[in-house]
Amino acid sequence: MTDKHEQQNMTATTPPDASDALPEGAIDVAVIGGGAAGLNGALILARSRRSVVVIDSGSPRNAPADAVHGLLALDGTPPSEILRRGREQVRQYGGHVVFGEVVTAEPAAPSTDGDLRFTVTLADGRSITARRILVATGLTDVLPEVPGLAEHWGHSVVHCPYCHGWEVRDEAIGVLATGPVSISHAYLYRQLTEDLTYFTHGTNLDEDNRARFAARGIRIVDTPVTEVVNDAHGALAGVRLADGQVVTRSVIAVLAPMRIRDRGLEGLRLPVQDVPNKGRSFASGAAGITEVPGVWVAGNVTDLTAQVGASAAAGALAGADINRMLAAADADAALHLAGTGETL
Ligand SMILES: Cc1cc2nc3c(=O)[nH]c(=O)nc-3n(C[C@H](O)[C@H](O)[C@H](O)COP(=O)(O)OP(=O)(O)OC[C@H]3O[C@@H](n4cnc5c(N)ncnc54)[C@H](O)[C@@H]3O)c2cc1C
Repeated sequence: MTDKHEQQNMTATTPPDASDALPEGAIDVAVIGGGAAGLNGALILARSRRSVVVIDSGSPRNAPADAVHGLLALDGTPPSEILRRGREQVRQYGGHVVFGEVVTAEPAAPSTDGDLRFTVTLADGRSITARRILVATGLTDVLPEVPGLAEHWGHSVVHCPYCHGWEVRDEAIGVLATGPVSISHAYLYRQLTEDLTYFTHGTNLDEDNRARFAARGIRIVDTPVTEVVNDAHGALAGVRLADGQVVTRSVIAVLAPMRIRDRGLEGLRLPVQDVPNKGRSFASGAAGITEVPGVWVAGNVTDLTAQVGASAAAGALAGADINRMLAAADADAALHLAGTGETL
């Protein structure tokens, strides 16, 4: 349990953009990943007087974006500012936020009273022992290998109509298809602009959807895209096709395949599930519980489509569930000690 003295110390001494030292000894919960999911989980745990350490490698998925949109009361806030405030709030309640990359996480020998233990090791060799683990490492968007595409990611190359659709409304948008999932993506972007071109880019577009696209005024280009073309100022100006033709566009919408960030977590042996047309994610039940005793997951690592609000909410639910399970384990431990004649 964190004491009031430690809580006041953290609030007074740690600037929001600095790393805390890794605490000595076993802690209640190690949170791997300090984005919206991990920080909200840690906030709930720290407020429950659990000793909690968030370990974060500092590359949240939405880092390229200027602002977070669609998040009630915080719409338009830069991602870095939301995380800065989140870290500050976790620390206000005695939680620690350590900057670093987890390279291994695995079960360790249980405590003498039979409670679970895990060892989490960072890239610089430091390690910590925790009673429970919350995995909130997010995902990576794997962009198609079209030259020039990646440099505009999060600005003129967008994926989520709810994140930046309003910002690109009425622009000349091109949907770069990556598979069947891009078809419904196109209808969503058609809601935002009348000037929409669908680049099939080697994917199948059935006759029914061709007719529906035509009815909605969506142009279809079947010639593959070879590169993104910029104007003299470096702004996205269009795409070049395999036949050399350039199609003018100011925005490209692309649903990139998503890959969960699971490196270093293999030792936890978390089950993975297929998410049709989207990728694979860590399987979880209510409140992010997994089949691996003592390990919870939250945010994009288990819910590929969660935005910031849903990720934060999932982290909070997982944090509360972990606290509930720890409370039961604490009672078990107390009972065990009572049986041995010792006291806590
Ligand atoms: C360009 C773009 C713009 C977006 N805009 C919006 C928007 O406007 N509104 C919205 O609601 N959503 C938006 N999103 C979605 C948003 O990014 C996600 O919903 C959100 O980031 C998910 O939170 P998370 O905590 O699950 O993961 P993340 O925010 O990705 O956080 C995961 C954290 O874990 C860390 N990590 C990973 N592996 C390790 C490891 N081994 N050790 C230590 N740390 C590790 C990472 O460095 C990262 O800091 C956008 C996404 C993109 C790509």
